[in-house]
Amino acid sequence: MERTPFLPLPEGMLIDEVQITENGLLITVIATHPTSRCPLCSEFSSSIHSSYRRRVRDVSCGGRQVQLCLTVRTFFCRNALCQRKIFTERIPQFVEPWARMTIRYCQALQSIGLSTCGKGGAKLAARLGMQASRHTILHRIMALPDGSAGSVVSVGVDDFSFRRGYRFGTILVNLESHRVVDLLPDRRAETAAQWMRKPPDVMVVSRDRGGEYASAATQGAPQAIQCADRFHIVKNLTEAAQLLVARCQAENLAPLKPEEPQQDEQRNPVISIEEWRPPEPAYVEKARLARRAGRHARSQQVVELCEQHMPTQEIARQLGMGERTVRAWLKRGTFPEAKKRRKRQSSFDAFAPFVLKRWQNGERTGLALWREMKAQGYTGTERSV
Ligand SMILES: [Zn+2]
Repeated sequence: MERTPFLPLPEGMLIDEVQITENGLLITVIATHPTSRCPLCSEFSSSIHSSYRRRVRDVSCGGRQVQLCLTVRTFFCRNALCQRKIFTERIPQFVEPWARMTIRYCQALQSIGLSTCGKGGAKLAARLGMQASRHTILHRIMALPDGSAGSVVSVGVDDFSFRRGYRFGTILVNLESHRVVDLLPDRRAETAAQWMRKPPDVMVVSRDRGGEYASAATQGAPQAIQCADRFHIVKNLTEAAQLLVARCQAENLAPLKPEEPQQDEQRNPVISIEEWRPPEPAYVEKARLARRAGRHARSQQVVELCEQHMPTQEIARQLGMGERTVRAWLKRGTFPEAKKRRKRQSSFDAFAPFVLKRWQNGERTGLALWREMKAQGYTGTERSV
């Protein structure tokens, strides 16, 4: 029996045996304290009833996974007034009764989880010699006590996605403690307004520049000052600057008109995609023009460098392009126009007139439309409809 600085154990616990297994280390540990305290009446007892073994995970040792095989005992409670007759010995600050991992292992998982995420945490833990699924890591984080929200004077409100592009919720942050105060299941103004009615001392609501949260703050916390948060101001500024740059570049390239749409698309009898999809916002078109301007400038550079008899390989290296692209552009004399991705044909196109007609006739159920289309030979999924 020994104690080792490599695996610190609480007072009275000794290592009995260390086995190197396929999965790491299996360390047999026995409890040797002569007495233990009854959890009900807190009286010490030295009358041992029996002993049993339990396995718990512990923090890794030199990168190896560690499993402790603990031999713990049960004691008789000799207090005549106590209802508990037999109790299991407690190893406080080391392992909870019936837990399958030590407290320090659990804390390590929580730290990993808090600084990464469930999936990333599970990967990192495995690299550190700790085996835990992402669910275990998330459960351990959920088990952490909620920090008391206290009074919220300045609250930041924004949306977040449970699933990107599908379902959104609202996040509320205490701007003084920089801690999340609450998460709401949707991003509707009424839900956020209802929340803001609860803490009566909200004085500042920092929000995006959309209408929903403005309306929520007006309804729920009319006493509060509303302000646009820094993130959204910077985001809006960036977008405005991008537009300006794109416009300037587009103006410089005014004589260079983009190619007309291809003829066969016009001859196509089906409804054009623009008719059943909302038109692209202006900034998307401008950003496309800006990208085109960049490609145009680069193609001119390619031609100039080639005229200076620079080898293709060197041109590619200097401009950070692929060699094949440089060769293709030189062969063509210019750069190829990027295909407009939104003009791509899809298997839905042929059914667009039918769907439009059914829609105008009042059929608004995606599933029903999909079934009707499927009967006519549509091969796409219900979701795409
Ligand atoms: Zn007792």
